Amino acid sequence: MKYTFYHRRPKPDNPCYVEGKYWYIGSTMEFDGRRKRHNNKWRRDQPFLKDFVEQNGGCDAWEFEVLEESDHETRSDSLMREQHFLDLHNPCLNLRRAYNSEEQEREFQKRRKKKYREGVNREIYLQKNRANRLRHYKANKAEVNRKQSELLDCSNCDKKYTRSNMARHKKTKYCMNFKK
Ligand SMILES: [Zn+2]
Repeated sequence: MKYTFYHRRPKPDNPCYVEGKYWYIGSTMEFDGRRKRHNNKWRRDQPFLKDFVEQNGGCDAWEFEVLEESDHETRSDSLMREQHFLDLHNPCLNLRRAYNSEEQEREFQKRRKKKYREGVNREIYLQKNRANRLRHYKANKAEVNRKQSELLDCSNCDKKYTRSNMARHKKTKYCMNFKK
């Protein structure tokens, strides 16, 4: 599968532009779709990026730079490549690693738990987030339940999963190592 690795950065006339500084690096199989999604809907795991862009000129003041287009047989291969770019450029708005070996993953989880326990601000943020989600859920119960139980095609492999199980499925070895 062809993947596009991109750098989401402020345009040169944006006051927060800094020469040589990297902001957010991501990868996608459908670059045009991702570009649109960044401008409209945001992935749930990118709230910090979304807030940051909105507070710094909005989407019009930001652009995409293509770092590389390359073929990868599995999702795990593509995440390894993404991690290579993260290690190389150390972008300031990526909160997660793209790829961890199993040992790195354990170490990372340990550190994350520690950081979580210590991060008071983060705790407040999560509580707010939970409260908002709960409010939203109560107001839209039927619709939310319908959406959660909808069967969707996995974008990496040949399986179908409900929205609520998709994230967990995408971490399985079957999905990560699936060859199209
Ligand atoms: Zn899958």
